[in-house]
Amino acid sequence: MAQLTDDCFAFSGPLLRLEEMERLILERISPVPETERVRLHGARGRVVAADVKAPVDLPPFDNSAVDGYAVRHADLAADADTKLTIVGRLMAGARAGLALDRGHAIRIFTGAAMPRGADTVFMQEDVTVEGSHVIVPKGLKLGSNRRLAGEDVRMGAVVLPAGTVLQAQHIALLAALGITEVAVRRRLKVAIFSTGDEVVEPGTPRAGAAIYDANRYLLAELLERLGAAVTDLGILADDADRLAAALREAATGHDLIITSGGVSTGEADYVRTAVERAGSLVFWRVAIKPGRPFVFGRRDQKLLFGLPGNPVSALVTFLMLVRPALLRWQGARQTALPAHPGVLAEPLKNDGPRRHFMRVKVDPAGRVSSAGAQASHVLSSLAAANGLVDVPPQTALPQGAAIQVLRWDRD
Ligand code: AMP
Ligand code: MG
Repeated sequence: MAQLTDDCFAFSGPLLRLEEMERLILERISPVPETERVRLHGARGRVVAADVKAPVDLPPFDNSAVDGYAVRHADLAADADTKLTIVGRLMAGARAGLALDRGHAIRIFTGAAMPRGADTVFMQEDVTVEGSHVIVPKGLKLGSNRRLAGEDVRMGAVVLPAGTVLQAQHIALLAALGITEVAVRRRLKVAIFSTGDEVVEPGTPRAGAAIYDANRYLLAELLERLGAAVTDLGILADDADRLAAALREAATGHDLIITSGGVSTGEADYVRTAVERAGSLVFWRVAIKPGRPFVFGRRDQKLLFGLPGNPVSALVTFLMLVRPALLRWQGARQTALPAHPGVLAEPLKNDGPRRHFMRVKVDPAGRVSSAGAQASHVLSSLAAANGLVDVPPQTALPQGAAIQVLRWDRD
């Protein structure tokens, strides 16, 4: 459970630095103690609860890396071709009852167990076959084209340390080791809702000044990718009492509640008040763009995050502050967003006083350009983007600058 202290950092004075806010959030969180065993399929995004050790060697037995001829290296002439008699054939999966005597070779295929006595394999492309004989060239080293048992993974070795966020490649490794289930931290239960009198559900009639809800759809996808169990509580009106009631109710069955909208200092911004009524406000406002208004609070051991309403602000604050909290809570080793080096194909300029996380497009060669308009309501440039660049206040990064791109489209 998250361990939260009672001190309150709410203030309306200077903005909190991003790192400071992240630290204040993360120091209040320790990993959920509950774990469960899950089957491999569907475990992607879950966090490994305890070191996983290999129950067997990998490969489990010595085998051939190529299609070719298994031989005894001691039979080979050092400075001439060698003619050997083909005495058998071994396909992958065949029981390796065969043994190799002096002057013999065995036709072997990739993945087939090495016959007893054989230590080296010639590729079929490198030999000449004459009837029941094979002529192999000089110069091949002892052990060539042979995969040794345990050369990949030794039985007993830690293959996945606790805190690994499972991805396809980790799951493949577990499967190759014959493992069918893995112990992971339990899923976090996360409730989401949108706020705003103007926000309506896509697919329903839209009156003159209404807009369709984008944020719940954004958050549901981001959260599910992080292994959370999401409850969608819909859209709530701008009404502090109703918002407070919804927060109280959601806190009974969830670890975390994430809202969007209603967190600035506008007249209709009731989320902060609702958090104060339902629990306690820890702090709000962070010195980044987009996303300055941001509420972090708690009710008992439950966390409440109020994200800004503009979708890009909601995304950036989610990535910078909520994602690390979710990962830490699940015991993940890495909580920072992955950063990849890139080179600016055009200048990026931040005239403002806050760090600006600008939407960019990165091509496969690492060339980075703006994804378009940077205002926080602009979804088309968000959809065109596959990364963010953190541009410091009052800074112009020139074309050709080496930069780090934060990626959220892959975990
Ligand atoms: P607020 O944070 O409530 O002041 O909202 C800031 C801007 O974001 C306003 O233009 C809202 O209409 C818009 N907005 C709020 N919630 C959503 C949402 N769920 N989806 C899309 N836009 C939203
Ligand atoms: Mg609003």
